[in-house]
Amino acid sequence: MATSAVYATTSSLVVGDDGTTLVVDPGVTAGEVAGLGAAVVRRGWRPVAVWSTHGHWDHVLDGHGVRGLPRWRAGGPVAHESRWVEERSRERDDDAALAAVLAAHPQDAPADVVPVPPVPFPHAPGTDRLDWPGPEVAVVPHAAHAPDHGALVVVHAGVLLCGDMLSDREVPLLDDASADPVGDYRDGLELLAAAVEQFGVSVVVPGHGSPGDRDELDRRLDADRTYLDDLVTGRSDDPRLADPWVADAHAAQLAALHR
Ligand SMILES: [Zn+2]
Repeated sequence: MATSAVYATTSSLVVGDDGTTLVVDPGVTAGEVAGLGAAVVRRGWRPVAVWSTHGHWDHVLDGHGVRGLPRWRAGGPVAHESRWVEERSRERDDDAALAAVLAAHPQDAPADVVPVPPVPFPHAPGTDRLDWPGPEVAVVPHAAHAPDHGALVVVHAGVLLCGDMLSDREVPLLDDASADPVGDYRDGLELLAAAVEQFGVSVVVPGHGSPGDRDELDRRLDADRTYLDDLVTGRSDDPRLADPWVADAHAAQLAALHR
């Protein structure tokens, strides 16, 4: 995995013994995406597709090294390009530090990301796996954070690539377009928790922040459940709120829920 200078966004590579590689959430600046592509070439790995954990702009980027690969995501509606451009400019306007990074390091246009049809998992009834030639990867689709969110479990390695959840930096950020954003998020967390048990996950890699071991994963599950309870009661002492950007997002979520 690699960590971007923007939002501590993580990009991950799932690599098989023969070098078959799935690129997950390549980002964020054009230089970082190209660096990821160059690292893959240097090691003799063979990227065959890109998985986006969801359709937010920082997870659907294109660029040198990944251009032309099939682009996959879980089902559900996705932000379309004009919304993508608008979403990124809004975040840039709201965040001077982000504006500076993006001005210095432009990104390529977003790629066209298509839903991949689910394939039943032979050893795990009720779950789906990614239909690709690399190591077994389970797909956990849900609607927490975004309507098209899809976490991956790299089964043999016990690694959960969970997109924008279970972060050590960000509290749960709700899908503000959902009719029941807290309920959707709770459901998504419980689906992740079930996959963690089912596949014996021992490592979590969030879309933003640092990876963690199983103890840390369990701690983050509890922290995110507690934060959702706090949102409903209106008070939270979550330590992640020390980051002003996260505190602002929290204030906006509270205002939206208690309006
Ligand atoms: Zn997101």
